[in-house]
Amino acid sequence: MKLTIIGTGYVGLVTGTCFAEVGHQVICVDNNTDKVKLLQGGGIPIYEPGLEDLVKKNVAAGQLRFSASTAEGVENSDVVFIAVPTPPLPDGSVDLSFIESVAREIAGAMTSYKIVVDKSTVPVKTGDKVAETIKRYGKSKVEFDVVSNPEFLREGFAVEDLMKPDRVVVGVRTQRPVPAMRALYAPFHAPIIVTDINSAELIKHAANSFLALKISYINAVSVICEASGANVQEVANGMGMDARIGRRFLDAGIGFGGSCFPKDLSAFIKISEQLGYDFALLKEVQRINAGQMDRFVKKITDTLWVLKDKNIGVLGLAFKQNTDDVRLSPAIDLCQRLLKEGAVLRVHDPKAMDKAREVLKNATYVEDMNEVAAGCDALVIATEWPIFKKLDLERARRLLTHPILFDGRNLFDAREMEEMGFIYKSVGR
Ligand code: NAD
Repeated sequence: MKLTIIGTGYVGLVTGTCFAEVGHQVICVDNNTDKVKLLQGGGIPIYEPGLEDLVKKNVAAGQLRFSASTAEGVENSDVVFIAVPTPPLPDGSVDLSFIESVAREIAGAMTSYKIVVDKSTVPVKTGDKVAETIKRYGKSKVEFDVVSNPEFLREGFAVEDLMKPDRVVVGVRTQRPVPAMRALYAPFHAPIIVTDINSAELIKHAANSFLALKISYINAVSVICEASGANVQEVANGMGMDARIGRRFLDAGIGFGGSCFPKDLSAFIKISEQLGYDFALLKEVQRINAGQMDRFVKKITDTLWVLKDKNIGVLGLAFKQNTDDVRLSPAIDLCQRLLKEGAVLRVHDPKAMDKAREVLKNATYVEDMNEVAAGCDALVIATEWPIFKKLDLERARRLLTHPILFDGRNLFDAREMEEMGFIYKSVGR
């Protein structure tokens, strides 16, 4: 099938590439001309495991190309995906201006029947607005269908998630686009849930808010563990072996961040409010998440006392492992709080240093994770990169002026760390 994806970011680029990989003809469009030029020249604007090889392979095979023109994409496709940002507004609601302007552009460019698929995360009822907009700005005789097809990929595992989705959600207003949507996704051999558009849109917000809730739940449990001398990892393991609960998203730490959970949570709270329901449970999820960072910072100040002019090494800047994405990263938030207190930072991340430099200016960026501790009063782990488990701990202990390690992601065994001579503070243990 011939597809175009409008918006070539984390979602659009990976989705387009995976569709190309399974045999569709894909044009990825972006209005950021620098990004398009980079992609056309063989560069990749984001780090995502496995992505670069797949992009190169499919570009070489003529299955995937890039363009700065929505009109060109629409003209040459049967199915048009929208994968543009839906950032939060100051009041927590969603800025839908990117979606609206893309809907108008699509309308203006359509000369034959198209299926317009929204992949961006949007509030319930957005599909209706997209349909109204296309109708208003399009040429009168051109037919189209609007479909909601929310994306559930995890950054850092995006290719894997796209190629082997747990499920594909397809929200429709009529049955007409269903066979095409099934054909599009057939190569992925995933269960396809066909539902109405409102339910499809709600599935995404309800799912992400539930995952955020699960993280806040274990973070709240971690507070009780600390107060009672229990170990949150043991509790999570014991809970997670119950098939009704599951172990995933039960890792206590400094809280969730990134470009999805915080914004989707506040959007869902706002949508609920607009629909007449006070979703107080989700407000508590936000409160617990904020409290988790406050408690971690307090742990640092309780131990180091005055932070002014203290040298602190920070491992991890990305909002989670396996990504270079620093949007609303708890690690960056932590660094900024430490800087505000006057600390001097040496920081490292395996993939996110370039993107971090744009938002975190007053820190020394260290290329080798084993050198971060040099001359520091303490070392902090802020992102759960698996490679940090291979940190040369003996060397770190020797390089630190005081052997203090704050582990915001519970990567190490507390007893082993203490036996090695560290003052080791983690979360919920
Ligand atoms: P992103 O910022 O990485 O990418 C969006 C791209 O859209 C950018 O490259 C931007 O230049 C482009 N763009 C903006 N306006 C445009 C226009 N008018 N025409 C063409 N291109 C335009 O964003 P993302 O992380 O890929 O997220 C996109 C959507 O998918 C959001 O709604 C997000 O909530 C949702 N989502 C994201 C993830 C994730 O893990 N990142 C997962 C699931 C869903």
